[in-house]
Amino acid sequence: MQTAIVLDFPSAEDQQVIQAAVQTFLLTQTGRTRELMLKTIRAVLDRYRITKFGFADYYVYATYEPKWSMIRAKKTIEGQDCPGCGISIYTFKSTVRILGIEEFPKKHFVTYGCKCGAVFGKWELYL
Ligand SMILES: [Zn+2]
Repeated sequence: MQTAIVLDFPSAEDQQVIQAAVQTFLLTQTGRTRELMLKTIRAVLDRYRITKFGFADYYVYATYEPKWSMIRAKKTIEGQDCPGCGISIYTFKSTVRILGIEEFPKKHFVTYGCKCGAVFGKWELYL
């Protein structure tokens, strides 16, 4: 992750643009809406010349690898259930999708988003 510099705040309207893009992806969970979400976040951050911005449940970052932007959850869970609706992250029919992964030595921090709207993170060990 690059060093983040916060210079200014996106307007309430632009904040809603980002949040709407995230919610649209969580509801539809398609490759197209994922790409749109990441591009939308990057476009707003670029417009304000900032590399990071925090919402209630997550931060968004401008990135160059692997894609346009990244989402990192503020809330971390210990178990394997969505804190919003209780569905298991790992079941076949899960409505939880990976929003972002940050890799560290021997473990990584995975940010998940659920169709119910919850965004949360979990530390996972490399096997
Ligand atoms: Zn949920």
